[in-house]
Amino acid sequence: MINTNDMFYAKSSDAAIAEAGEYGGAVTTLLKYLLKAGIVDAVLAVERGADLYDAVPILIENPDDVIKASGSLHFGTLNLAKVVERYLDGAQDMKLAVTVKGCDAMTMVELMKRERVNADNVIMIGLNCGGTMPPVKGRQMMEDFYEVDPDSVVKEEIAKGKLIVETEDGAEKEIKIDDLEEEGFGRRTNCRRCEINIPKMADLACGNWGVIGPLAGKATFIEVCSPKGAEVLEKAQEAGVIDLEDPIPKGIEIREKTDGAMVRLADKWQDKDWEDKTGREIFSVLSEYMDDFSRCLKCYGCREACPICYCDDCCLEANNGPDWLSKGEVPPSPMFHLERMLHMVESCTNCGQCEEVCPGEIPLAKIWHEVNAKIKDQFGYTKGVEEGKPPIAYFPFPQPASK
Ligand SMILES: Cc1cc2nc3c(=O)[nH]c(=O)nc-3n(C[C@H](O)[C@H](O)[C@H](O)COP(=O)(O)OP(=O)(O)OC[C@H]3O[C@@H](n4cnc5c(N)ncnc54)[C@H](O)[C@@H]3O)c2cc1C
Repeated sequence: MINTNDMFYAKSSDAAIAEAGEYGGAVTTLLKYLLKAGIVDAVLAVERGADLYDAVPILIENPDDVIKASGSLHFGTLNLAKVVERYLDGAQDMKLAVTVKGCDAMTMVELMKRERVNADNVIMIGLNCGGTMPPVKGRQMMEDFYEVDPDSVVKEEIAKGKLIVETEDGAEKEIKIDDLEEEGFGRRTNCRRCEINIPKMADLACGNWGVIGPLAGKATFIEVCSPKGAEVLEKAQEAGVIDLEDPIPKGIEIREKTDGAMVRLADKWQDKDWEDKTGREIFSVLSEYMDDFSRCLKCYGCREACPICYCDDCCLEANNGPDWLSKGEVPPSPMFHLERMLHMVESCTNCGQCEEVCPGEIPLAKIWHEVNAKIKDQFGYTKGVEEGKPPIAYFPFPQPASK
């Protein structure tokens, strides 16, 4: 019997899926099994679009199509929770399995707390994530650092702290991510600050960290994070579609150490990004960014991209509000941003969508991530959280009762 907190090395028993998958195809196998067995109506995953830098969400209903979305896209910066809430009606009337990085999973939980996503209908297959890279800068990085035509890159992989790039002529080049980041490339700045590498708030957390020995590079380490996750894995094993093995104890240790090292690195980036991290109050954080806010074009891009901005009638567009809301002046008063902040900041998961789309290059994710962290510090949301519990407990809203 499989239980919450169990850990496994997993790979597909289907050779084609094992080959197509990033690390043994366990995730593709589980998604395909869930569809085929009728446990879910659809799978939401991510596939390659026009090129390697273009990751697009895909809703799959035919089990045979799941393999087309296999593989990890490190330029895949999108937030799938937004897709579920806005375009799939929060899975209110459909059973859905969805692949989630830490930020997708945390946002999904926030939307479940706000009853915008139906927790009972969603199975979250978590992917460990050490960070994603911005697509446009990624192309420039290929030219400037790898000295290759960005369109000639056919494969990218992150291993042992290096970004390894393969071009169509079969040549490989690797550069340390630390070196890329020193020069302002590499992972998105919000990802550098992120401490959630293993999405334990999902039903399963899947990644390559900790897979050592004969299965290294050929299997995925799965941690079971909920009874729902345990049930899914057990059924897939019983159906004979997935091979599970006990992990090597040293591998478990390595996974924990790697996660710890990444959390410490994220803390360093927080220290760097947020001057005087511990001392200052929320309003002194905000006042530091007034110049940045003055670059606002009032394009509403941040609101459109934010997974937590979902009001049907947005108060920022009110016709009868005070001047700063209704007159359409550019830049709007900073109150424009503070108003949005009140709607979303306690649920902000530092997913970076706002900053990514801002044409004024306002460091929005950096601002709201710091304010969110301050709220937790100053208003005590972290108080009473037990060691090792996932950050779901850090947020203020209660979980909706099971329907
Ligand atoms: C951006 C990213 C960073 C990662 N970083 C780490 C890491 O630092 N440490 C670690 O242990 N593991 C990491 N992983 C997980 C690892 O790369 C594998 O995805 C995992 O081991 C499962 O392998 P698999 O062969 O079972 O997956 P597959 O069978 O290949 O399935 C992978 C699934 O992930 C979906 N997917 C691909 N890209 C994205 C994306 N950007 N967002 C959401 N879904 C996506 C695909 O559609 C597919 O369904 C990362 C994954 C991603 C996507």
